Amino acid sequence: MQERLPAPECDSPAGSVFPPPAGRRVYCNRNLRLDLVKAVGFDMDYTLAIYRQAEMDRLSIEATVSKLVKRGYSEELVSMKYRTDFPIRGLLIDRKLGNVLKMDSHRYVKTAFHGFRKLTREERRRAYHTRRLRPGTERYHWVDTLYGLSEVAVYAAVVEHLETSGGALDYGQLFSDIRECADLSHQDGSILDAVLDDLPRYVDRDPSLGVLLHKLRSAGKRLFLVTNSGPDYTEAMMSYLLDQALDEYPSWKNYFDYICSASRKPSFFTEKAPFVDVEAQEETRTLQRGRVYTGGNIADLERTLGFAGDEVLYVGDHIYGDVLRAKKESTWRTAMIIQEMDDELRVLREHALNFERAASLEQMRGAVQDELREHQARLKSVERKLHGHESGPEKATLDAQRVRHRRSIDRLRAQLKDLDAEHSALQDTLDEAFHPFWGSVFKAGSEVSSFGHQVEQYAGLYTSRATNLAQYSPMHYFQSPMHRMPHESGSSPGT
Ligand SMILES: [Mg+2]
Repeated sequence: MQERLPAPECDSPAGSVFPPPAGRRVYCNRNLRLDLVKAVGFDMDYTLAIYRQAEMDRLSIEATVSKLVKRGYSEELVSMKYRTDFPIRGLLIDRKLGNVLKMDSHRYVKTAFHGFRKLTREERRRAYHTRRLRPGTERYHWVDTLYGLSEVAVYAAVVEHLETSGGALDYGQLFSDIRECADLSHQDGSILDAVLDDLPRYVDRDPSLGVLLHKLRSAGKRLFLVTNSGPDYTEAMMSYLLDQALDEYPSWKNYFDYICSASRKPSFFTEKAPFVDVEAQEETRTLQRGRVYTGGNIADLERTLGFAGDEVLYVGDHIYGDVLRAKKESTWRTAMIIQEMDDELRVLREHALNFERAASLEQMRGAVQDELREHQARLKSVERKLHGHESGPEKATLDAQRVRHRRSIDRLRAQLKDLDAEHSALQDTLDEAFHPFWGSVFKAGSEVSSFGHQVEQYAGLYTSRATNLAQYSPMHYFQSPMHRMPHESGSSPGT
């Protein structure tokens, strides 16, 4: 991520202290004046409905694995252990080699696992660093939703298991089977019915959701829901989240001007499917308040809303289906919900001193490397001169210079070794604190990760949960922190 200047603290009109605490803050990549936003849309799953990830993963893995066994995979898969702590968002599945990868923003593979075995630097280099990686091709699958994490957990575990038990394995076929079984589990109710049967177990109901929606409505903004979930599931979930949350809104439908379910994002942004009134089972191009629709498209929604383009803010969790497509196909402003931020911010806070130390080690290493290169160049020059001087006083002077440079080179190399060892141990500690397998979701080593890069590119705002928006006035001006160019930075000479 780009370097941020600390935001100045000030008093909000309501008297509370700004900015809110880090975990409740909304972060801004691109300036946004909330007073100019006339309509705010929300995705539902993982945006308004915050799922308990470990419970959802367990449910999804059980359903997927039982379908894999029906397809002929070993019964042993049912009793195996699956590591739900293995995957993170932003990973790339390599269907050809059976690996799971994490890239930086330049598509450079920084970390790779085969099963649960970490590839060595040389293995990574041979597989991925000799030609440009093309993540958009058939060979790769980008894991960009929290739903997708369970598929990675199953893939890594099955690759590990089948290889250690000596079975032949088609990595591409295995991943296709896992994907299909996971999709089927969503379609046939194996997952959704279980969620609806025990909502408190799977969904973290946020009591301030009603407050946020009321606050936005009171400021005159139109609200709408665009979710890919079907109408029945949407009805049950939204009722659980919002019914009776506030006296003024007896039903969840009262909060929204328009409700679009089964919206088939990203096609919703790119195609022209009509809306279908669920109750009347009629196609329509115009929406009415209080009714639930399926299908639809952005153009008809904008026309009905009476607002379009940058007057609309859409809040979602899916980088591709919600944020990237909305951004590329329209000029809707975007806010991305990134649940992982709670953990990321905690590590940044708890390891603040370690981060400072890592930065100062990098600076020291740069300075030592410069000095080392200088002595190496001078030594070369002295040795060239010595060629022509077999004896005499000048030879004695050059000999002394050679000894001096060699000593300095030895000393600097030893220093560099110590600095590298400390930096590498510190980086391991920090990566481990973020995530035992992959480190920070936003970073890949000292670079921004490909996921972090997409967040920077496409999410105007980002925050850990939708209700964090309630911390701000509906007229708030979100300002991207000033970015310093390298020549403006007074604290990092020579970098
Ligand atoms: Mg979602």
